[in-house]
Amino acid sequence: MANRTAMSLTPYSLFDTHCHLNLPELAGTHPAHQLQNMQQHWQDAQQVGVAALLIPATEPATWLPLLGLQQQQPSGWHLALGVHPWWAVTSPLSAIEQLSQLCLRHSDNIAAIGEIGLDFALASATFAAQQAWFEQQLALAKQLAKPVILHHRKSQPQLLAEIKRQQFSHGGILHAFSGSVQQAQAFIDQGFKLGIGGTITYPRAAKTRKVVQQLPLSHFVLETDAPSMPLAGYQGEVNTPARLAEVFAAFCQLRSEPAAEVAATLWQNSLQILGLGRL
Ligand SMILES: [Zn+2]
Repeated sequence: MANRTAMSLTPYSLFDTHCHLNLPELAGTHPAHQLQNMQQHWQDAQQVGVAALLIPATEPATWLPLLGLQQQQPSGWHLALGVHPWWAVTSPLSAIEQLSQLCLRHSDNIAAIGEIGLDFALASATFAAQQAWFEQQLALAKQLAKPVILHHRKSQPQLLAEIKRQQFSHGGILHAFSGSVQQAQAFIDQGFKLGIGGTITYPRAAKTRKVVQQLPLSHFVLETDAPSMPLAGYQGEVNTPARLAEVFAAFCQLRSEPAAEVAATLWQNSLQILGLGRL
């Protein structure tokens, strides 16, 4: 069993900083079984050392259900609420008001605004809605002094430009980082951690692996992006938070520090950037 192997290799506390545990691939489609399915994946992940995870919302319809699910599973699940760029067109911009109110009412339960960002691999007809949602949500995060979970595809310069324009200083996580040391440094300079996932298990991801090798450990957090982004060797399968142990193992292979030090630092980085110091 892959789980058993990973368990013996990973006696550490790991934080999956990006896991869409509520999406149908992991939670199923029947509301009555949703929590049970999510808890099963959570238990499997705990078996291999995952001690906390962050669930980023994708669209307004998921905000209240996520808050409800979190209340039934009080330990270890953290939330980011927001509108993902893929849902920008179908989410009315007026929902920003509800987001603002939920964040004020449930401030202690919402670690970050996310998943927000810009995805320029989508059709250009969506760009105006994406930009509007991104600008509004970044402004809200600034007002609430919350970090953000950033989605990027072909959009790093535009994300940086807006962060600078708004003088946003609460940082966050650049989710699914891939790119060069120079690209990484531009976000680090704005207070962001780099979210490292299954990408580094692919030998072809040479640039991203080099970033993991070269930059100080203080700049990284781990993530699976489950159910997306399967690791090398698992293409075509649904990704799960339990695979974080394998992301961690791949990460450690690129570092010179002992695994215990890597794990402890990544854990602290996650708590610090998400404002969860009280854990
Ligand atoms: Zn995501």
